[in-house]
Amino acid sequence: MALIVQKYGGTSVGSPDRIKNVARRVAKYKAQGHQVVVVVSAMSGETNRLIDLAHQIQLKPDARELDVIISTGEQVTIGLLAMALKEQGVKAKSYTGAQVKILTDSAFTKARIVSIDEQSILADLDNDNVVVVAGFQGVDKKGNFTTLGRGGSDTTGVAIAAALEADECQIYTDVDGVYTTDPRLVPEARRLKTITFEEMLEMSSMGSKVLQLRAVEFAGKYKVKLRVLSSFEEGGEGTLITVEDNDKMEQAIISGIAFNRDEAKITVVGVPDKPGIAHQILGPVSDANVDVDIIIQNVGTDGTTDFSFTVHRNEFAKAMEVLKSTVQPHIGARNVVGDNKAAKVSVVGVGMRSHVGIASKMFRTLAEEGINIQMISTSEIKISVIIDEKYLELAVRVLHKAFELDQEDA
Ligand code: ADP
Ligand code: ASP
Ligand code: MG
Repeated sequence: MALIVQKYGGTSVGSPDRIKNVARRVAKYKAQGHQVVVVVSAMSGETNRLIDLAHQIQLKPDARELDVIISTGEQVTIGLLAMALKEQGVKAKSYTGAQVKILTDSAFTKARIVSIDEQSILADLDNDNVVVVAGFQGVDKKGNFTTLGRGGSDTTGVAIAAALEADECQIYTDVDGVYTTDPRLVPEARRLKTITFEEMLEMSSMGSKVLQLRAVEFAGKYKVKLRVLSSFEEGGEGTLITVEDNDKMEQAIISGIAFNRDEAKITVVGVPDKPGIAHQILGPVSDANVDVDIIIQNVGTDGTTDFSFTVHRNEFAKAMEVLKSTVQPHIGARNVVGDNKAAKVSVVGVGMRSHVGIASKMFRTLAEEGINIQMISTSEIKISVIIDEKYLELAVRVLHKAFELDQEDA
């Protein structure tokens, strides 16, 4: 007998029939003698609908109230799934995040989990129940509802698996595993049997939404056995996220390509080249709660330099406003220019550590298609470039081919 946490995403619980389907799968595991905790997302489209509703009332929705609203989607699904399980003759109990005391900090809309009261879940499991928990939501120590950021049900699943020391955390979604790149963009993409935590961390943080970044971080930290599987197929092995994979290091240099179209690039032009300038530019941006990603400062000539960085496209207007109104006059920069149609493409693979020439192959491939690279950023196992959004799909396709990711033994 094993203790399994299963997480089902929005599409997998997108209709009553699909919820019944989930109940059948859960019932099957239960019948095999396993203890099962199920974490569910809101039905597909529901969180977007709720966010849109909030925006119709307030242009910039109050974050606390927004979490009150958007956490309701998951509450509906847990009730429906618990009912579907009872219809299958399976004992089940649904819980909101607050009810199982998923305690978080108070950072509304992007809260972090602090602790989970695993005792009540364990007691229910011992009583032969399937425990159904709402993903994406928690409660802060003052009792306010919080949510964990888009895609956050993955993190709920992994956090519960960690707290319960579960044997496996299974993430059921609408694809049958982690692919070499998003199979919706590149039909030739292949499912990976395994991917290392390090690679998955890079893939998630560079934009692959198949797993939320925090879920991967959590699983790595607490050594949760994590697998991504299809909720629409039976018997697939999915993709296992592994601690290390020595065999693979010998084979594939690049494991996958991630991309993100929600980028915006900002350049502060003609900045005095002197100590403290980076802080004077990025301090006010950070005070405005805007996250900065890739940063590049050119070598100065004639005592001035250009300073470029990327932000999320949603935060572009806010960042430009702070820079133009406060930073530019303060530091005496010549201009602030921005482009909110940028995209980021990243190639990821632990094999990069032991192979040279990956960057030049990437740059040559893009050059052959006439794609201009605007910024470059690297880590030990990743190379990212910022390009014009209109070339994103082309870039991902040609890189996927150039690195032979469409080939069986890649
Ligand atoms: P869920 O609602 O189940 O959480 P998501 O939509 O959040 O599902 O994540 C699954 C989607 O992630 C897939 O439908 C796919 O389009 C996308 N995706 C992006 N990159 C990858 C990748 N490398 N492998 C598999 N899926 C990916
Ligand atoms: N329902 C939330 C969202 O759409 C959380 C999730 O699906 O993981 O972002
Ligand atoms: Mg998701």
